[in-house]
Amino acid sequence: MSDVPVVIVGGGTVGLSTAVFLGHHGVRSLVLERRKAPSAHPRALGVSPRTFEFFREAGLHEEVNAATVTSTALWKANARTVAEIDHSRAPAPSTAESAVSPENPRGHCPQDRLDAVLLPAARERGATVEFGAEVTAVDQDADGVTVTLADGRAIRAAYLVGADGVNTKVRHALGIGTSGPGEVGGTTMNILFAADLVGHFGSMPTMVEVRHPDASGMLLAVGEGRWVLHVPLPDGEEPTAERCLAWIRTAIGADVPVEVLNAMPWRATMRMATEFRRGRAFLVGDAARAITPLGALGLNTGVADAHNLAWKLAMVLAGTAGDGLLDTYHDERHAVAELVTRQAELRWENPPLHWDPAAAAGRAAVGMWHQPMVLMGYRYDSSAVVDPVTVVPSTEDVAVSLNGDAGSRLPHRWIAPGKSTVDLIGPGFAVLTGPGGEAWCEAARKNGLRATRLDADWAASVTLADDGALLVRPDGFIAWRTETAADPALLGKILAMVTSR
Ligand SMILES: Cc1cc2nc3c(=O)[nH]c(=O)nc-3n(C[C@H](O)[C@H](O)[C@H](O)COP(=O)(O)OP(=O)(O)OC[C@H]3O[C@@H](n4cnc5c(N)ncnc54)[C@H](O)[C@@H]3O)c2cc1C
Repeated sequence: MSDVPVVIVGGGTVGLSTAVFLGHHGVRSLVLERRKAPSAHPRALGVSPRTFEFFREAGLHEEVNAATVTSTALWKANARTVAEIDHSRAPAPSTAESAVSPENPRGHCPQDRLDAVLLPAARERGATVEFGAEVTAVDQDADGVTVTLADGRAIRAAYLVGADGVNTKVRHALGIGTSGPGEVGGTTMNILFAADLVGHFGSMPTMVEVRHPDASGMLLAVGEGRWVLHVPLPDGEEPTAERCLAWIRTAIGADVPVEVLNAMPWRATMRMATEFRRGRAFLVGDAARAITPLGALGLNTGVADAHNLAWKLAMVLAGTAGDGLLDTYHDERHAVAELVTRQAELRWENPPLHWDPAAAAGRAAVGMWHQPMVLMGYRYDSSAVVDPVTVVPSTEDVAVSLNGDAGSRLPHRWIAPGKSTVDLIGPGFAVLTGPGGEAWCEAARKNGLRATRLDADWAASVTLADDGALLVRPDGFIAWRTETAADPALLGKILAMVTSR
């Protein structure tokens, strides 16, 4: 007998996202977090439009966008010190709409501010989140999982999600191995401080690559008057409060009042679990795969893991999908983890190719994908997609790659003010057709699916005949495309196939 359908170990961003997405699909969860309170230290900052789309789907568009940093200008400066930034190099602020996403946010959402949105959102959607709850053991049998806590309690659940970060106990307890070199590079100090740099300098870029020999590193805006300086910690040196202050003062290069709020040593890690599913247990986020930070691929990939898993667990728990659907979590996300790991590795070896939008040829020469492609342009190849097209038509242009192929994410297109095709998707499967697709809409309704008929321009944009149809999964990926005559029985068969029924 289960206490709760899903227990989530770890209440970091990915654990909380899992709880939010499960709640969105009507599944209660219990999140066990060993910290006494949410982490107040921002680590990840770059949140991709695709990640904003996940939160939009869960009804958190306003809250997540309100958590972004708005006090700085969206560009990256390179300078010896902040005082020496050449502000004339700042690009003109872009007002252009994204061609590929309904979400066109500023993209900089400090992780602690994101968590502050996700925690109440998870609770509002039926999750219980317990702080000060350290998991010490995990077991499973044919009927469920048992999680033991440091306080001696044992909790039964139907499924377990390990979202317990890079040093995951869940992965160890499950006996799942890893690949990858582990920690790479030396220790970096991640120093959080308060200073009115915008007031002092008039304006500030969101990112500054500081090149002073005594404080070389990256300065990031993580809120109004709040900054993080990442500096390498020289071997044998103690990161005392005085040393942290000295690094900050050197990096700024001007007499500005500064208050150090927190300092966190950190080592980049490259490590991937060999299995993302073992029986009734799943690994998500850094527990599944940890990577180097350049490219902002870590947090975004972790939240995408959670998004991929939530609808599958919900369908299996509801009895509308078979257990095989849960295997596709590993099949799909492990392949993405391999891609993302390789892409992070290439960026770690060659940062300029990552930063320069015009370096397409250089990226192509080494196999580096443009960052939006890594986060939005990949395709899935599993039994939850019929005849996937796995080769992307471009590794640079995500708009070209989101072309309606089976296995790719449904392309965004505005269909009404403020309403995108992306908003037509979830929580269940959906059918989208062209203007002549009324019979497919009928077939969809007979199978209990929502259906939407769109115009000829939309059909052309996904190279679909006016009476063709796309079957779109609850996570926005295209499960099947057809131009055959509408057939409710065939649609039912395909649905059964992609949900392993
Ligand atoms: C300096 C730095 C900069 C980064 N920048 C970016 C960026 O710009 N963009 C990006 O996408 N990513 C970035 N990342 C990566 C990003 O922070 C991680 O990918 C992300 O935090 C992973 O989230 P998570 O929830 O999987 O793991 P974590 O955030 O590590 O959360 C795991 C949680 O599990 C809890 N836990 C662990 N063990 C137990 C247990 N036994 N019982 C109960 N609870 C437990 C921990 O206390 C923790 O709260 C950065 C990382 C660092 C360190």
